[in-house]
Amino acid sequence: MPAPLNFVHTTRELPDTADAVVIGGGIVGVFTAYYLARRGLKVALVEKGRIGAEQSSRNWGWCRQQNRDARELPMATKSLDLWERFAAENGEDTGFHRCGLFYLSNSEEELAGWARWRDFARTVGVTTHMLDSAQATERGRATGKPWKGGVFSPTDGTADPASAAPAVARAILKLGGTILQSCAARGIETEGGRLSGVVTEHGAIRTKTAILAGGAWASSFCRQLGIRFPQAAIRSSILAVSPGATSLPDALHTAAVSVTRRSDGGYSLAISGRGRIDPTPQQLRFAPQFLPMFVKRWRSLAPGGLEGFRSGHETLVRWRLDAPTPMERMRILDPAVDNATIRLTHSRALDLLPALKNTRITAAWAGYIDSTPDGVPGIGEIAAIPGFILAAGFSGHGFGIGPGAGHLIADIVTGSEPIVDPRSYNPDRFGKSAWGNVADF
Ligand SMILES: Cc1cc2nc3c(=O)[nH]c(=O)nc-3n(C[C@H](O)[C@H](O)[C@H](O)COP(=O)(O)OP(=O)(O)OC[C@H]3O[C@@H](n4cnc5c(N)ncnc54)[C@H](O)[C@@H]3O)c2cc1C
Repeated sequence: MPAPLNFVHTTRELPDTADAVVIGGGIVGVFTAYYLARRGLKVALVEKGRIGAEQSSRNWGWCRQQNRDARELPMATKSLDLWERFAAENGEDTGFHRCGLFYLSNSEEELAGWARWRDFARTVGVTTHMLDSAQATERGRATGKPWKGGVFSPTDGTADPASAAPAVARAILKLGGTILQSCAARGIETEGGRLSGVVTEHGAIRTKTAILAGGAWASSFCRQLGIRFPQAAIRSSILAVSPGATSLPDALHTAAVSVTRRSDGGYSLAISGRGRIDPTPQQLRFAPQFLPMFVKRWRSLAPGGLEGFRSGHETLVRWRLDAPTPMERMRILDPAVDNATIRLTHSRALDLLPALKNTRITAAWAGYIDSTPDGVPGIGEIAAIPGFILAAGFSGHGFGIGPGAGHLIADIVTGSEPIVDPRSYNPDRFGKSAWGNVADF
């Protein structure tokens, strides 16, 4: 089942030329196109399915600094400001608000980890409050249980996955940018060793710059170009319940289950980190590089089924530019829900927050989280193909940092002062081992 998603009307006219072509209309692609269009570039965005229909509408909506890896924290902080500024600049509503994120725990070890993160975050000017047992129990009174402690990050927030990418897409159109839906990019053209065009299923667009913001499809696309981009998709399942529960926190995380208020007044329920790995040829190819990540996360990951083969996003097959590709056969990745996880999530949520008994399940869906071996995205120009920029592998964090990533890519394209230091994201690092360097999720 797809997640709830607003529709945005776009054009069917393919431009002959563009200053930059963005491939993929998830949150990263739309914010990239938005910041490029704001700088006066003639931008075309091509999306094989619908704007926001893959990961960017299937997530919890958390925009967080809390517990972020040091490599991503600056981008997370900038992104929170950009989410706010976007609404002020455009009058478009992404549902973003700084409701604060609230974590509860009864584990001394977990609380100690959060305290260590708080101490580190202070050094970079990020405020987060550790809560003692009395404070955590009082703030978490909706659970009706005592807690050893917790943490509250007041400057973090959530945005609405159903409306965010479509809202940014409307802003791109207002700025004169072009967006085509149901338009897959099949490949690129080069001249003299540098990028000279993007070939889509509806024809070619001449351009000197292309940004691949293709989410879970990025690695197989890169493979066509001889670029090695280790990426593995983890299938994560989530459900939504109707409005009806009152006095709950807007965004609450516990080890058992996490709960997020949706813009319709209902809640999304999910278990953090839990997912299934659907084996594919690509996963086997990159397995040695993912070993450290799997070792770190083995408790919450379980083997999946044949979903990955059927979907085609991790194919190793080489495709032609003049015939339909796997991306046209699978317009929207809508993997099967893990029913056992949905049942477990729902029962844990009812146990955690009894007020949820006044709600009913309205939807359940799954999404493929596109991960890199170290859990940090790959953002940057591919040295072998000047003009071709990779922006993928957001490893379960890309919604919240979408604005910062889009801004950074626009900085790279226009040669401006980068909004954050881009070195941690350099795709060149994927040639090396990720042992000891895997981000927390
Ligand atoms: C269950 C779940 C919960 C999550 N929770 C959070 C959260 O709370 N906070 C957070 O920050 N992140 C969260 N994430 C992660 C977040 O959703 C992703 O990191 C983010 O949406 C990635 O955005 P993207 O634009 O890179 O990819 P996507 O949203 O997947 O978009 C990529 C787009 O590219 C298109 N595409 C691919 N190839 C081509 C091509 N060749 N031509 C044209 N179009 C193409 C696809 O159709 C797709 O629409 C979660 C993810 C899931 C699945």
